Amino acid sequence: MSEYNDLKSAVEKLEIMQKKMAAYNHATGLLYFDSVTVAPKDTTAGRGQTMGILTEESYKVFVNDETPKLLEYLKQNEEQLDEKIKLQVKKLDEDYKKISNIPMDEYVQYNMLINDAQSVWHEAKQKNDYLLFEPYLNKIVATVRKFATYLDSSKNPYDVWLNEYEKGLTMEIADEYFAALRTELVPLVHKVMSSKKKIDDSFSYKNYSVRKQEKLSDFLMEVLTIDRNHCNIGQTEHPFTINFNSNDVRITTHYHKNNLLSSMFSVIHEGGHALYELNCDDEYDFTALSGGTSMGIHESQSRFFENIIGRSRSFTNYLYPYLKKMFPVQFKDVTKVMLYEALNKSQPSLIRTEADELTYSLHVMVRYELEKRLINGSLSTKDLPAEWNRLYKEYLGVDVPNDTKGVLQDSHWSGGAIGYFPSYSLGSAYASQMLFHMKKDLDIDALTQKGNLKPIVEWLKERVHKYASSKTPAEIIQICCNEDFKPHYYTDYLKMKFSSIYEI
Ligand SMILES: [Zn+2]
Repeated sequence: MSEYNDLKSAVEKLEIMQKKMAAYNHATGLLYFDSVTVAPKDTTAGRGQTMGILTEESYKVFVNDETPKLLEYLKQNEEQLDEKIKLQVKKLDEDYKKISNIPMDEYVQYNMLINDAQSVWHEAKQKNDYLLFEPYLNKIVATVRKFATYLDSSKNPYDVWLNEYEKGLTMEIADEYFAALRTELVPLVHKVMSSKKKIDDSFSYKNYSVRKQEKLSDFLMEVLTIDRNHCNIGQTEHPFTINFNSNDVRITTHYHKNNLLSSMFSVIHEGGHALYELNCDDEYDFTALSGGTSMGIHESQSRFFENIIGRSRSFTNYLYPYLKKMFPVQFKDVTKVMLYEALNKSQPSLIRTEADELTYSLHVMVRYELEKRLINGSLSTKDLPAEWNRLYKEYLGVDVPNDTKGVLQDSHWSGGAIGYFPSYSLGSAYASQMLFHMKKDLDIDALTQKGNLKPIVEWLKERVHKYASSKTPAEIIQICCNEDFKPHYYTDYLKMKFSSIYEI
């Protein structure tokens, strides 16, 4: 321990280590961003080599003989550390334990399995051949279950993974949450399906010039109060957000000539993610506490702006004159009401990523139930497609015609991400609870109607964004709402909105 007899130098060492890790992440992140946006097609080989070296170097900065000693020394002197450093040590210590608890040879084997599984999944999806993928999924489930015991042998394996993706989340909480969705939303979706109300959204599939859609994106970014000197828009097949630090965030979108709403709402969604990252207090940059705290809280921000604001009547009122002026031909016969209804057209469908606001969480519920049973051993990978199809019929009322459009549609399980899906849906539920409490402080409709989102962004910045990863999801909900997470805000919000639109 003699090398750390001086606390100041130990803290300095900790800071340097985190800055180095952040630098490697920055570099690999930029390489990734380049690869999916502007890099020429046949450039993967060289980039792959660079990525491999950088990833290995980054791993060595963290995993070595020194790090556990340094963390141990800092933990022993915890009382003398300031709060920020204490939290960094806690986070790094947790991360280190996780990495070192999984035997290296098993980890390498697992990475090879995932690598193979992902390419087999691609092929299986293309060929509609689940049986090709099934043996890989079977091995992944077994490994994920085993790794859970390395991470925390005292807990149920599925609980371990829920907690990995959304800190604090347990089956108990998720069961209660999804039970509420099953009771409240499944009947609502069925009522919407049998409603006589027909929504005509055909105008949104007319021809929209990409150049004008780009202008619309710029306008939306401005309305969202995003500073373009710190955040630009790239173009990719699948839209996403990537952050390097709180002053450098990138979002992407995809322009479809015959679909106005697709890119419009991608930009608002990714813009919500970007606001979170841009508003993180910069004291957390280049440390283990940088960036948003969890996938669920991140989705709460993107979905708050995409659905709660973006698809609201008041925002439609604000947007309508702009769209009408920008696209006079396509909007010739479109009224404000038609626009609002088109943005909220609900139709049970097969594909999660294309689902509307009302039915989205039911897609997640299917995955939650199935992956829970897979990990707990009450469902075999062989029986998975039949169960998938059964639940889609029960919850969404749709017949799954083949596995490509069914159990093979998402890449997550092939990448070993089991326990990840629930956070997508929780994001919407968190957002609805935040909305309820925000309404006590702000007249959201009046602000949105004027396109004045600044006070809304500020509210979220003060309670969510600025903390970066220094608070847990549950702590963020407490700060925003002064209570624990409660599912009913979400079901209440959806019931109110969609029973009004569909007159049921
Ligand atoms: Zn998102």
